Amino acid sequence: MDIRSSVIRDRRAAASDESISVAGSQIFGRGSHARGRGAAGATGDRPAQQITTIVLHQTAGAMIRGDSIVSVDSAITSHHRVDRIAAHFVITVDGQAIYLRDVEFIMNNAGGRRGIDIEFCGRYRNSPTPEGNRLTPEAIRAGRQLVADLVAAIPTIRHIHPHGQVQSTPASHDEEPGPKYHSCCGPDVWVNVGMWAESSLRLLTADTAPGYPNHGISPRQSNVAWRQEV
Ligand SMILES: [Zn+2]
Repeated sequence: MDIRSSVIRDRRAAASDESISVAGSQIFGRGSHARGRGAAGATGDRPAQQITTIVLHQTAGAMIRGDSIVSVDSAITSHHRVDRIAAHFVITVDGQAIYLRDVEFIMNNAGGRRGIDIEFCGRYRNSPTPEGNRLTPEAIRAGRQLVADLVAAIPTIRHIHPHGQVQSTPASHDEEPGPKYHSCCGPDVWVNVGMWAESSLRLLTADTAPGYPNHGISPRQSNVAWRQEV
């Protein structure tokens, strides 16, 4: 579906033939019509009205700028690495919200059957006090605007979570609930976009929608020392 938004760069065509990511895993989720062959020509997997949840991530990879992606957004033969990230949207450090795959497709990511996955480019830490790369104000503004525009377009969205809260990795005894619990999306993204959406858009964070696990939110992710004045 088309999403009305001032921050979206629509690159669905360029990403549509990709079914395998740069890491060698499937981009589309189990049960997706596009799994194994890409979205080109495939019908969607779900109506948008079934979407309940937004899941925020960081790529833990390169600080990709949108203005560095020079191939045409409709070039179906593009192999830019951004087109091979298993997400519906990627937020670049210069504040583009790149629409990679239609929200009616299921990604092979934590959002699953009822979710939209948003990946922020870059590697951000979860230390007690901020250090290392910081999320840029442009990326924060783009992420907030995208979430607001998605909620306006799809009123069934009621929840937003960090990946670590809803990861499917089984909890082992006496251990943290999995490898992403503290790290994805990390406090710079969660505090400045996720918690902003909780207070400004009244999205729910503590409880998860049906179909999702709930490991709770890591206190390292909700650490307000990472709050930025944006
Ligand atoms: Zn993640």
